[in-house]
Amino acid sequence: MLALLVLPLALAVGAPGFANPTSGSGVVPDRSSTGEQNGVGLMRIVVADKSGIDRLNALGVDLAEYVKPVDNGIEVHAILSPEESQALRDEGFDVQDAISDQGDYAQNMAERSAAIRAATAATASTDTLTVLRSEWFSSLDNQLFLNVEVKSSAGTDSTTVLTASWDSGPGTEIGSGGTATMSRFTDAGQYMYHRFSNPVPITAAPARATITSNKGGSVTVDVAKWLGSPRKDPGKHPYVSDFVDHYMDPTEVTARFTNLAAEFPKLTELIDLPYKTNGYRRNAQAQFGTAAASTVYVTSTAYGSEGGNEVTMSLVNPGTANAPLTVSVSGKAVTVSLATNGSGAITSTAAQVVAAVNGNVDAAKLLTASTYRGNAGTGVVAAAPVTQLTDNLKAPVSVSREPFQMKVLRIGKHRDGSKVGVFLYCQEHAREWVTPLVCLESAERLLRNYAQDPNTRKIVDDLDIFILPVVNPDGAHYSMYDFNMQRRNMTNYCPASNGDPGRRNAWGVDINRNFSVGSVFDGYVGASATNCTSDTFAGPSELSEPEARNEVWLVDHFPNIKLSMNTHSYGGYFMWPPGAYKAEGREVLPRVDQGTEAYFWTSSDYILSRVQEYRGTAIWPGRTGPVTDVLYSAAGNSADEHWYNRGIIGWDFEVGADIYNPTTGRFSAVGFQPPFAEGHEEAMEFANGNIAILEVARAYATDKIQPKTALKVVKQEAGATAFTFSTSEPANVYYTLDGSRPTFNSPKLALAGMREGVQNITVNSDTTVNWFSIDIAGNVESNYKPDGEGKNYNKQAVGVQ
Ligand SMILES: [Zn+2]
Repeated sequence: MLALLVLPLALAVGAPGFANPTSGSGVVPDRSSTGEQNGVGLMRIVVADKSGIDRLNALGVDLAEYVKPVDNGIEVHAILSPEESQALRDEGFDVQDAISDQGDYAQNMAERSAAIRAATAATASTDTLTVLRSEWFSSLDNQLFLNVEVKSSAGTDSTTVLTASWDSGPGTEIGSGGTATMSRFTDAGQYMYHRFSNPVPITAAPARATITSNKGGSVTVDVAKWLGSPRKDPGKHPYVSDFVDHYMDPTEVTARFTNLAAEFPKLTELIDLPYKTNGYRRNAQAQFGTAAASTVYVTSTAYGSEGGNEVTMSLVNPGTANAPLTVSVSGKAVTVSLATNGSGAITSTAAQVVAAVNGNVDAAKLLTASTYRGNAGTGVVAAAPVTQLTDNLKAPVSVSREPFQMKVLRIGKHRDGSKVGVFLYCQEHAREWVTPLVCLESAERLLRNYAQDPNTRKIVDDLDIFILPVVNPDGAHYSMYDFNMQRRNMTNYCPASNGDPGRRNAWGVDINRNFSVGSVFDGYVGASATNCTSDTFAGPSELSEPEARNEVWLVDHFPNIKLSMNTHSYGGYFMWPPGAYKAEGREVLPRVDQGTEAYFWTSSDYILSRVQEYRGTAIWPGRTGPVTDVLYSAAGNSADEHWYNRGIIGWDFEVGADIYNPTTGRFSAVGFQPPFAEGHEEAMEFANGNIAILEVARAYATDKIQPKTALKVVKQEAGATAFTFSTSEPANVYYTLDGSRPTFNSPKLALAGMREGVQNITVNSDTTVNWFSIDIAGNVESNYKPDGEGKNYNKQAVGVQ
């Protein structure tokens, strides 16, 4: 950086030949420079042409190795003092704003110093290790695995290394089970914690593990069993399952749902969602030429299925000298007769053909012409025979080209809004072919077991279940018949510069980025607002897409919906909000409160144990938790929409857990479309998960049990006592330290940190603590009325030595 300060102060104002550097080309600078500049800066300069660069070089200006063509000339970057900038401006150079200057430098250095200070402070003393999770579990083929997550107080220092050693069962020595180095997990530049990037295969279930840090810290913890908690009522009755035998397109899946509704009229109704999709259709196109400058492409005005596929165009060599460029239309045939010169050679350029076609009133009714990807189109086109435009859609005629009617199957004995609603929805992303099968299998099991299985009957009698098997039907049809990796819907928001047939697989909106909470339009990360060909293109605005609006309509129209599950693939995850953060400082959407987070973890154990029952698949603890903690930021996703706007618990599955190969000792990913034999297994095990979610929802709906709490002193030293609360079930605790009645406005017991346990509260003098607790279903401890006058809250004195 110091080199910047040693400038070649070579600007001899009024040097020969330096009269007016931009006037030669007749291009006027696009804006007068108002660029603020704080000390020496890297400044943007726009010159009209190469000669402007030569003049800057001749003046000894320190130019960066950067040249970029811009609308009105060439942009170069130069290192200049404010005086030098002014001198150049006085001479007519268009010196614009600073890319960076001494203000940025100072900020960089301050950041650097702060980071070094923090690292030094962190390492000055032995680091403190906080264990977030320590679990063992078994997965496919009864292979055992260990998962450990530990946060070091010196973790911001990248040289901090943690090592875990574990025993081989109760009473055995630490280390006898194995030892492994943990990896430092960072996200958006911030230290999160240390973990194993994959669970470690082990041979015996450990009882304890010791984690040591090279900065001196050490901690020993018990290792708990993850998943496998037994079913409370294992059900002795016949239970039928397995209703899917091939990957299905949205037309097939919707037909199955329609048939189910007809077969079970007492238990179901079919809801037509109000917004039809744009449809499995698009405009027909043809491209003439291959070289960018001489290529023309045309797009039909009508969708291919509505006449666009019948339009033709030809580029004809008239075969005579000095012919003009003309366009004629007969029926749906557009004929372009190309211009020639005196010797009969074609002279029409791509740009001229585009202008002629678009300028012909009859042709413009049929199609629009464009040059290739924004090219100026100065190349001469080649003659081309009659070419039929095509939408190039390959689905059989059984797949309608009309806007798609999305249908929700509502299942429940009492569908009057009096029961807790659960919304299960699948296939927001088209290429995730297993996901609609999860929704379909879940619906079939509920209806076909109702008569014989008491557990199913309880669920259907006590809940109001809404199942939407395909959120993105147009994209899903396209994924199955045209381009299997299609993720988005089929609606094209690209301008002509990205609208040619070669871009047909790159259009569409990512439905799970089109929602209105924590969206890219609000400044959150994980979607694109500007790049129409990005696979996470969020659309032109929040909720621009009918598919997203339909989800919102459903949860608005049925306010009894309290839980939702958004099923995706792949990787094997179970997640909940928050699902997005802003890049700056990794500012996460508000985290759920302590009681809710505890409820989510308890529910995870139940739900994922049911997933595991099918074939042993364990969803890893490291893939269980808030989206932002275990996956990445997904700006504008639907689970955040449901939770933050309506308080609906918004869960996400990623079906398709990695499969462990005991021979190689490696996990391998299953992908979006595994062979059906594997896809089938995923559908079965996650349908188990959906049924478990309904059991959890029913427990929530019928929960009348009040939580119980106890105050626990955890640390007492001179002048300070720390305490916390334990609860009999996941619950929030509201407390006061000033002797007043606790209410919902009182402080709430929080988590100590991400993936950590509850906080400790420290008091410095003898204190009377008053508190009550409330579970997620709204049951208040001792039936206390926080808004009333009663004194039946908990009360305990905490002494300070
Ligand atoms: Zn997805």
